[in-house]
Amino acid sequence: MHTYKMTPVETPVPAAQPDAAAQPLSFSEQVIAREKQYVLQNYGRYPLVLARGRGAWVYDPDGNRYLDLLSGIGVNALGHAHPRLLRVLREQAGLMIHISNLYYHEYQGRLAERLARVSGLQRSFFCNSGTEAMEAAIKMARAHGQAVHPDKYELVALENSFHGRSIGALSVTGQPKYQKPFGPLLPGVRFVPMHDVAALEAAVNERTAGILMEPVQGEGGVYPVPPAMVRKARELADRHDALLIFDEIQCGVGRLGTWFAFQGIDPVVMPDVLASAKPVGCGIPIGFVLCNERAARTIPAGMHGTTFGGGPLATRVALEFMDVLEELLPQVRARGDYFRHKLETLKSRYSFIRDVRVHGLMIGVELDRPGKDLVAGCMKEGLLINCTHDVVLRLLPPYIISESEIDKAARILNRVFKRWGTA
Ligand SMILES: *Cc1c(COP(=O)(O)O)cnc(C)c1O
Repeated sequence: MHTYKMTPVETPVPAAQPDAAAQPLSFSEQVIAREKQYVLQNYGRYPLVLARGRGAWVYDPDGNRYLDLLSGIGVNALGHAHPRLLRVLREQAGLMIHISNLYYHEYQGRLAERLARVSGLQRSFFCNSGTEAMEAAIKMARAHGQAVHPDKYELVALENSFHGRSIGALSVTGQPKYQKPFGPLLPGVRFVPMHDVAALEAAVNERTAGILMEPVQGEGGVYPVPPAMVRKARELADRHDALLIFDEIQCGVGRLGTWFAFQGIDPVVMPDVLASAKPVGCGIPIGFVLCNERAARTIPAGMHGTTFGGGPLATRVALEFMDVLEELLPQVRARGDYFRHKLETLKSRYSFIRDVRVHGLMIGVELDRPGKDLVAGCMKEGLLINCTHDVVLRLLPPYIISESEIDKAARILNRVFKRWGTA
């Protein structure tokens, strides 16, 4: 008879050190210690454990509260525990969460219809994340190019961009620090500086299948692409029969106070393909691609797909969000303006603030030095923000943020800035 032994884990859990003087670990410390041992150490997390949220506030296990101005990196657009989302989540979870894309359900088509109406782009493809949406967009460009000529596969993207972590999306991400460990990436990708219309013109030719850009770069530091650059991209895409692809994963779906970022460009520049994700499901994973019929024709039945994408729970929640957003849109712009006013005041007070960039509720505060300590300082004072590109404080508040919450955030920022400025 065989006796089976369980394979031991690589690093056995150390027995608690019987050190009489040592304090027992708090709940939060236990949570962090367990993750450090068993979870892939690919994130540099802040030492904060969160247990629940309500509105724009989140709470740690001890009941301390934090004003959440990052909202899960722009995902929790309606904050936490929004009653209208809870209602549809509870009801739909009791009916059906998932069925796969082998069958129809009511909500995928309804959401697609809704998105078409507000964007002017006729068709949707649903997936589960931003990088997957970019992957679908890149495949559309490739398929479009291959239908013309085998050499038409090049992609033109912007320097300092961020499009996601899958190999395709990473290949068009213009930041060597993300790309370097994973080469070789997709061939035929060219990067041009965001302000260089001539470089864009030189990079696009008849071998170009797609031109990609974030209308407002997010991870790169909250930089809007100059309208002249966007217009030139449209013109070049038309001249050379390429698809123009906007990555609105962070800046889209209400973040700027319009349904989509491209609608804020004057005059509006329509893409052929638009990818979005972050706020759409308010925390339920969902991403999508919108496209015109010209781009949609590149993907006939069987050519692309996903198991989870467009399920009844995610699409129904997104549809409810679209309803709520319709009422909230004017407020997003107004709250952004209110925030800008507060941040401009801080800028006039502290010389280490180089620039304040406020686009709806997409906010960057550029410093003259790394801002990591500031983020930690704010956390101690009960304010969650983020720092991107070392020197840009990034705020992506929930769309439901109130003026008094913005006042509160500004007071905390002022306190932390004051200490920092004299340090
Ligand atoms: C977050 C982000 C992505 C990647 O989305 P994931 O959901 O993390 O895969 C791509 N592009 C932009 C502009 C983003 O902000």
